[in-house]
Amino acid sequence: MSEHDLIIIGAGPAGLTGALYAGRSMLRTLVIEKGVPGGELLNTELIEDYPGFESVKGFELAEKMAAHAMKFGAELVTDGVVSVERDGDDRFVVATETGQRYHAPMVLLTAGGTPSRLGVPGEAEYAGKGVSYCAVCDGHFFRGEVLGVVGGGDAAVEEAEFLTRYASKVYLIHRRDTLRASKIAQGRLFENPKIEVVWDTVVERIEGKGTAVTHLALRNVKTGATSQLEVGGVFVFVGFRPNTGVVRGHVTHDAAGYILTNEVMMSSMPGLFAAGDVRAQLTRQVTTAVGDATTAVIAATRYLAEWKERHAPSGTAGRHAD
Ligand SMILES: Cc1cc2nc3c(=O)[nH]c(=O)nc-3n(C[C@H](O)[C@H](O)[C@H](O)COP(=O)(O)OP(=O)(O)OC[C@H]3O[C@@H](n4cnc5c(N)ncnc54)[C@H](O)[C@@H]3O)c2cc1C
Repeated sequence: MSEHDLIIIGAGPAGLTGALYAGRSMLRTLVIEKGVPGGELLNTELIEDYPGFESVKGFELAEKMAAHAMKFGAELVTDGVVSVERDGDDRFVVATETGQRYHAPMVLLTAGGTPSRLGVPGEAEYAGKGVSYCAVCDGHFFRGEVLGVVGGGDAAVEEAEFLTRYASKVYLIHRRDTLRASKIAQGRLFENPKIEVVWDTVVERIEGKGTAVTHLALRNVKTGATSQLEVGGVFVFVGFRPNTGVVRGHVTHDAAGYILTNEVMMSSMPGLFAAGDVRAQLTRQVTTAVGDATTAVIAATRYLAEWKERHAPSGTAGRHAD
């Protein structure tokens, strides 16, 4: 018999919302989080687009979400999940770094993702103080500024365009002489008078004064020439890796590795739900993570009822035992 009905992997906004709804739905729920609950909220200085909070520090919202979620009875363990696979009994077995093995008929994967870093001096120092990985989140902090955007794929090109709503000028810095972004996105980029592409160029250092970025040290990879670009901030879009590697067995995903789900957040593996930044979708925000997880857990309660019917000892099918 399973000890838990639902195992939630990750306690960011999606996982904590999942825990809240699961607790209120009386599901026996285990949340496994490898770090401190809060996820990317803990790397975010200020959040100004979460309804009800005009401006809130990321760690404060994380603390509030965690306290609210745990109030309804979900169990939280601090451990890293290393694998999720089906056992022979239509359940999942979730194995962790400390050697624990947990079983449940349903798993909600809310492990988020990791934005790729440039790995240059100044990047970590100025993260949240002029270095950002999210234009929708941070763009409005840079009204009237000159900005650098690093990357050449769809994310970089689309976000550079988005940032021209706020910035006086956007330099798109790309290490090659062609962009990887779609032709449509490129067309919009080249037509935008506020954007200038700096080709064949890498950022070698992010420099600043006190708590603000002031300029980027650049190097042309073809000529070796170095230069300085004055900017008020830099947005890095050189990749985002969804944390889906723990799932063993094939789960349908998109070209970038994000899990594809149906409209109730179930993946192609029955009983495995996905919510938040791990999921293929238009945008990745706290609000979308929270919404996904709500839908996933409501759907999970229905899935569990069907699962129990299927697994009822013969002769009891149709009876609603707990
Ligand atoms: C710098 C930055 C600023 C942002 N600013 C905003 C903003 O202003 N507004 C906004 O709406 N959105 C913002 N976002 C986006 C927002 O933070 C994310 O969309 C949101 O946090 C996604 O929630 P999530 O729960 O899906 O994933 P995450 O927040 O990434 O949480 C995933 C959790 O899973 C845990 N985990 C991962 N792997 C494992 C494992 N194997 N075992 C156990 N635990 C695991 C992680 O430790 C983490 O706690 C920002 C993002 C970044 C990077």
